[in-house]
Amino acid sequence: MDFSLQTDPPEIAPFRKEVRAWLQENMRGSEHLRWSASWSTRENDEEYRFRRNLAGKLGKKGWLFPMFPVEYGGAGLTFDHQLVLETELDRYGISLNHVFYTLARIVAPVILKWGSEEQKREFLPPMVRGEVSVWQVLTEPQGGSDVANCQTKAIRDGDHYMVTGQKVMVGHHLPPDFLWTLVCTNPSGSRHENLGWLHIPANLPGITIQHMHLMMGIKNVVFFDGVRLPAKYLVGGENNGWRVAHTHLELEHGGEGRVGADPLVERVVEYCREMKVDGKPLIEETNVRDIIADMMIELHAVNLFARRNFWHRFVREPHPYGGAQFRYYQRMVRLRNGERLQQIMGCDALDPDHTVHEVVDFEYVVRSGPGQFHGGGTLDTDRLIFARRVGLGRPTKEKAPETI
Ligand SMILES: Cc1cc2nc3c(=O)[nH]c(=O)nc-3n(C[C@H](O)[C@H](O)[C@H](O)COP(=O)(O)OP(=O)(O)OC[C@H]3O[C@@H](n4cnc5c(N)ncnc54)[C@H](O)[C@@H]3O)c2cc1C
Repeated sequence: MDFSLQTDPPEIAPFRKEVRAWLQENMRGSEHLRWSASWSTRENDEEYRFRRNLAGKLGKKGWLFPMFPVEYGGAGLTFDHQLVLETELDRYGISLNHVFYTLARIVAPVILKWGSEEQKREFLPPMVRGEVSVWQVLTEPQGGSDVANCQTKAIRDGDHYMVTGQKVMVGHHLPPDFLWTLVCTNPSGSRHENLGWLHIPANLPGITIQHMHLMMGIKNVVFFDGVRLPAKYLVGGENNGWRVAHTHLELEHGGEGRVGADPLVERVVEYCREMKVDGKPLIEETNVRDIIADMMIELHAVNLFARRNFWHRFVREPHPYGGAQFRYYQRMVRLRNGERLQQIMGCDALDPDHTVHEVVDFEYVVRSGPGQFHGGGTLDTDRLIFARRVGLGRPTKEKAPETI
């Protein structure tokens, strides 16, 4: 992989030109919304409309999932094309991971891998075109790390499933169209052999969604109270859910990779240029410059890990421990950056600024430092996966599952 991402193969260069011109045209007048297409729990109406609109346009061209087959809503392009799209969008602070405002980035590849032909043709196109939003719904009140200990039951009743149970800490502050849900399909079956995945339309009778106000923003409780679901929504087969979960969790636990950069340092530098202490800009203080340099070095390493995983994923050679390594390091860096912000700007770092996007609001960075240790599995989960993949304390090394 060329880590500099500077040179395109000759046959790809015209595509970059096309994408750059398209983005110039479609971002005109919205340049001030730079970064606003990142996942955010305090998105305003303007940002929301911008993001949905952009997602719709990208989706129509197949560019939200460039490598997906055309018949499922993608553009049937190559890895090089995907890289062009990711890097051009990144110039506007936008990532394909977030632009379509849903967890389809994880769910769609899992359905592509495990769904039947009929399911792929029905479920994927609206998701891949960014027309519907989907939440990933795994965590339960009795403990999220032990995903296999799933108590939400889906019991077959003729050509339907009856779904009953409760999930916590899931989703977003705006409602979903689908709930991608891990369930227990055989309560008397043995562990790992008793699970299934359902792609549940969120408007079915018996589903109640309630906001949870967490330190990092809004998540939700979802109640399933005797929800009657047609059996066609079971993806990957009955009692086969653990294998499907492997694919899902590998993507969620860092295996999906990413190209975009973290915009935090840019804003810190801007702040330090403007903020003066005793008439002297903060940026001229040696200790402040040292702290910013540490931040830059670590964020650069995070980006390299993310790009490496991105490459491994799309050439279908999953890195054995790259996902867990990236996630652990990324989250520790974010925590350290919260501490660094406090060292640089003191209590200014604890004052929320709602005029900027969450990802560059210093107070949010500080607050979310510890909170993000749990999202998508904890640091202990990262350690556990890492240890298994390198064979620590075991005679064999666990293999990384191939994703799409
Ligand atoms: C911001 C945020 C977003 C989230 N989004 C989603 C979402 O969209 N969908 C979803 O399904 N869930 C979501 N979650 C839930 C998240 O996946 C869980 O919080 C996570 O899996 C941990 O589960 P838990 O909170 O129940 O902690 P527990 O599993 O109860 O763990 C408690 C503590 O024990 C440690 N621990 C547990 N088991 C072990 C072990 N075997 N070895 C060592 N230590 C262990 C943990 O590391 C942790 O420190 C989100 C959570 C947050 C905070």
